[in-house]
Amino acid sequence: MVRLRDRLARSGSPLGARLLSVLSRDTLTEDDWDELEETLLLADIGTGPAEELLEALRTRVRVLGVREPDAVRELLRSELLKVVDPTLDRSLALERPVVDGVTKPAVVLVVGVNGTGKTTTVGKLARVLVAEDRSVVLGAADTFRAAAADQLQTWGARVGVETVRSEREGGDPAAVAFDAVRTGSTRGTDVVLVDTAGRLQNKAGLMDELGKISRVVTREAPLGEVLLVLDATTGQNGMQQAKVFGEVAGVTGIVLTKLDGTAKGGIVVAVQRELGVPVKLVGLGEGPDDLAPFDAEQFVDGLLG
Ligand code: GDP
Repeated sequence: MVRLRDRLARSGSPLGARLLSVLSRDTLTEDDWDELEETLLLADIGTGPAEELLEALRTRVRVLGVREPDAVRELLRSELLKVVDPTLDRSLALERPVVDGVTKPAVVLVVGVNGTGKTTTVGKLARVLVAEDRSVVLGAADTFRAAAADQLQTWGARVGVETVRSEREGGDPAAVAFDAVRTGSTRGTDVVLVDTAGRLQNKAGLMDELGKISRVVTREAPLGEVLLVLDATTGQNGMQQAKVFGEVAGVTGIVLTKLDGTAKGGIVVAVQRELGVPVKLVGLGEGPDDLAPFDAEQFVDGLLG
């Protein structure tokens, strides 16, 4: 997996550049503090966290009598790190559960709005797991979009794992998810990754569908992870989606995709607070190796540039 910091740094974080230009002034005026806040808001950190962070920073700057921009930057770094929260457990629950004396596959349900990068994330994650010598089966439970199962199957072939799919378009997504988990069970597979559909027009429909998938799958094996895929470039819109999925899907972790295309990585802070679950993985491109575990320190250093 790629190093998050290098990739964020390569994408030329405007947050870092803007912060540096403010912090390089000899003394910070009220206008400078306003500009700092605006910069944090532009990075999608969210109003509450931005205000709290700057309040803490101002207090520390005052108490410590810090003036030099480098020292203020160091304080900002430590405050940013606090709000990103390096203490959260970001590991994936991939241990195989034992049900009635039988070892089952670890099941990972991948949810999120269409276009956020679900299928790509499933493919990349499969590749990581295979590289770790784990066996993987993919389940194409997005049966609504004609191309979705094909796309997943292409990823499966690329990384050398089997894809379980419906024979016909419009098949029952829960049935496909169940088949995938059953196949994994029968074969003694380590991990089953289930790709789902994400039509948000109708919250009740989405709730029904994800509820049914999880009910049916858990007849065979418990859910290890429910990963919500969010597109980092969608900003506050992404927050709305996150809330809906948080309500309907019992999300255990977030995958923030397309961080390569934005300086708005601050959404990490907002989304963790709103959902109360950690960002566990980040997508840094369209290629098979462009997935990285989220690392708070690397992330903050990347943001600061
Ligand atoms: P889905 O509808 O949620 O399954 O989304 P897809 O997996 O089909 O992805 C939608 C588009 O986003 C595709 O063109 C992907 O190549 C692209 N994509 C996915 N993840 C990333 C990422 O981390 N960075 C970039 N730049 N593009 C991504």
